[in-house]
Amino acid sequence: MKTTGIFKLKGVVQHYDWGGFDFIPSLLGQPHPSPLPCAELWLGAHGGGASIAELTDGSVPLPDLLTAAPAKVLGVAVAARFQNLLPYLFKVLDARKMLSIQAHPTIAQAQAGFEAEELAGVPLKAPTRNYKDRNHKPEVHVALTDFWMLHGFRPLEEIAESLRNIEELQPLMPDFAERLELAGNDAAARSALLRELYGHAMVMPQAVVDSLLNPLISRLEKESPTNKDLPDFWAVRAAREFPLPDGHRDRGIFSIYLLNLVRLQPGEATYQSAGTLHAYLEGVNVELMANSDNVLRGGLTPKNVDVAELMRVLSFDEGKVDVIHGIDAGNGETVYPTPASEFELSRIQCSKDRVYHSGTRAGPDILIVMEGEITATADVDKLQFKKGESFFASQDCSYEITSQSGFAVVFKASIPSSR
Ligand SMILES: [Zn+2]
Repeated sequence: MKTTGIFKLKGVVQHYDWGGFDFIPSLLGQPHPSPLPCAELWLGAHGGGASIAELTDGSVPLPDLLTAAPAKVLGVAVAARFQNLLPYLFKVLDARKMLSIQAHPTIAQAQAGFEAEELAGVPLKAPTRNYKDRNHKPEVHVALTDFWMLHGFRPLEEIAESLRNIEELQPLMPDFAERLELAGNDAAARSALLRELYGHAMVMPQAVVDSLLNPLISRLEKESPTNKDLPDFWAVRAAREFPLPDGHRDRGIFSIYLLNLVRLQPGEATYQSAGTLHAYLEGVNVELMANSDNVLRGGLTPKNVDVAELMRVLSFDEGKVDVIHGIDAGNGETVYPTPASEFELSRIQCSKDRVYHSGTRAGPDILIVMEGEITATADVDKLQFKKGESFFASQDCSYEITSQSGFAVVFKASIPSSR
């Protein structure tokens, strides 16, 4: 088996209920609208949907390629550091419906949580299982369309204003504004106040949740808000998409007013570090994350919500969202830098007279063509890729990309060299 160079990669489509019917099938040149929702296209070696590498002498699952020659495919340093595994998972994601409110643990929390659940004998597949592996799951994503999301707690003065202006939410903490004034600029006191507010919203009896949210949702349903840049729109949608049995209300709706509501423009990105509470609301993105399934949920989901564990993992920092606009790395490449050592996401724009040179790299790359057509060359290999097609480049090769069609946009997952 030839293990080095560039290979066409066939990804796996995940048909989660919240996915769209058009974007991913259209990208892949398949009929659309598709009969099933197409939520995510996975490119990587994750056990939940490993890509297939199409070699000249046949097709193999990408994990087999890594196992066959880790030092060449991943590079010696990456293979040693990440136990012969591909450290990232690359996705195209199309959210038609809202996704759950969630946060991801640090590595230390994931290791401790995984061991504790193993010791307690909670089966890996149990719906109550929090930790599926021992890894953290930082994420970076770049919007391909207008993209709405919740990301991190709003500045507390903004939360105070919402509690003041929205009568139905005032009982969450009637003296929040006064206590915020007392906390002043004391970061620890502010963080403690936020923890208390959020913790209260997450543990108050369901009857109290209903008594706050029922009048709010009834009023908003009459007003039928249409502005997606305001929380009211998403509160109504959340109430509709996540009805609880017996007419109860999902307390995750509170978070829509407590978290920053962001609309990313195409090309803008955010990074979800460990402990950052977030939710994707609507839109299409390219997403790159560490190879993990560790998610702690905070509502807007039929899945298990373990409030105690979520509270342990959450960071009660406040502030506006740090939108990443990308850095021009030359060569037609825009890099979206993050602190993660497992991955780096970038966008490459090729034109007729601009050749992209990969140079030597720290680890393997996965690339997906989002617009146009490209020719990728590595040593004697010369492969054509059109829109929606992907390829894998082993660490030990360098490659070039050109676009005969005049213009092409390619997203690249790689491993940063500097960390
Ligand atoms: Zn996430």
